[in-house]
Amino acid sequence: MRLGLQGCRASGSLPRMASDTLFAKIARGEIPADIVYEDDLALAFRDINPQAPTHLLVIPRKAIERLSCAEDSDAKLLGHLMGVARKVAAQEGLTDFRLVVNDGAGAGQTVFHLHLHVLGGRPLGWPPG
Ligand code: AMP
Repeated sequence: MRLGLQGCRASGSLPRMASDTLFAKIARGEIPADIVYEDDLALAFRDINPQAPTHLLVIPRKAIERLSCAEDSDAKLLGHLMGVARKVAAQEGLTDFRLVVNDGAGAGQTVFHLHLHVLGGRPLGWPPG
């Protein structure tokens, strides 16, 4: 298996690619989700196990395993994801919210397709666990 930056799998190299994950399947419409926003580059849907009254996930259609695997050429896409987070937070009526990106298993990442958690609707403590 070819491994690139910080262990990121080069596409086409693998047994399990980022394109095989649950979220890649949701992005392709192969698995249902409660989608609240979509465009050519990204979509947002409700987390199946919400940790706050509003808990959305914003994902790129492009299969990027984790933030550490994004490249400089993804900068515009990464900015777009932040913009989508802003839009869906407003759509949900959130005045205050938190964005979380778990990067790697040690940080709590369980689905290896880059995603932004959008959490709101209750007071959020700091520091997070
Ligand atoms: P992370 O632990 O940062 O990788 O976040 C993965 C998130 O995906 C968790 O909050 C899960 O509750 C959520 N999740 C897992 N399966 C689904 C699904 N089928 N639809 C929506 N959210 C999901």
